[in-house]
Amino acid sequence: MRISITDRCNLRCRYCMPENISLMPMENILRYEEILEVCEQAVRLGIRKYKITGGEPLVRLGCIDLIRRLKALEGVEQVTLTTNGLLLSDYLEPLREYGIDGINISLDTLDPVKYKAITGFDKLEPVMAALKRAVDLGIKIKINAVLQKGINEEDWEDLLELAREMPVDVRFIELMPIGMGRGMDTVSNLLLLDRIQEIYPDLIRDPVIHGNGPAVYYRIPGFSGSLGLISALHGKFCSSCNRIRLTSTGDLKPCLCYQESIPLRQVLREGKKEEIRDLLIRAVKRKPLMHHFEDEHAVTEQKKMAQIGG
Ligand code: SAM
Ligand code: SF4
Repeated sequence: MRISITDRCNLRCRYCMPENISLMPMENILRYEEILEVCEQAVRLGIRKYKITGGEPLVRLGCIDLIRRLKALEGVEQVTLTTNGLLLSDYLEPLREYGIDGINISLDTLDPVKYKAITGFDKLEPVMAALKRAVDLGIKIKINAVLQKGINEEDWEDLLELAREMPVDVRFIELMPIGMGRGMDTVSNLLLLDRIQEIYPDLIRDPVIHGNGPAVYYRIPGFSGSLGLISALHGKFCSSCNRIRLTSTGDLKPCLCYQESIPLRQVLREGKKEEIRDLLIRAVKRKPLMHHFEDEHAVTEQKKMAQIGG
């Protein structure tokens, strides 16, 4: 289950969050106790792996403590975090102490000028510092990069080189036509793989399972980390999708592509535990056969990615 704990963010990535986004009133955002209650019920149904996301999860005070409490919840097997990395340095020690199972850092370029053009802020340095420190601390790190045509489509080479020296997985995620991503040109991972193979002809499929998700992994001889491709558009992985999303306002989302969501906040606030479980089951059963990101008109989700929780 991917849990978004906030719709706020300290960056404005051009494909994710507009400058003037209207934010949810705080009373509509689930409190940490409420999130933990959902998880308690979800664990009883067998949902044992959680990812904390947002918006930017680390801008919400107490995020680290939520992770500590979630890790301590009986039956929880894995807790990971997805972050833009800006505030991460300050929290790495406690995260390691609480036993975080992995951190995904979103990073689309190593060029400070392009970083500012993509995210709106001149903040590459603290992200790189956090990445290096996290690796030194032995935390399992995945780098998530979205390539945009004409913006950073050439940057895969520098990003992939990070995996040569550092034991990090560098993953390229196809841009999905959701929110600000609508109408933007994605870089096909099929073409990207061809280009990578031209430079690294010895690349092989990685037989090791790296996570629970849709990424396909490759090894490059001499590299410490792996290459991952998440091909939302050109490699439909719906038949094996086991994701369920909880938005910061307490809506369950069966699939990113469609606007269907199952509101949980009210029953949660009324303390109806059995109904919470029923709604979780309903959300899983409502997972559609497949997404249709290849046809923008079929994408009914109108929210921005930062509002859903990417
Ligand atoms: N703020 C955190 C971060 O950036 O990692 C967590 C939330 S962010 C919405 C999660 C991931 O969604 C990021 O890696 C971001 O690049 C990705 N993302 C946002 N909009 C997207 C889109 N339209 N298509 C593909 N990935 C997208
Ligand atoms: Fe913020 Fe993450 Fe969206 Fe960038 S991708 S605007 S960091 S929520």
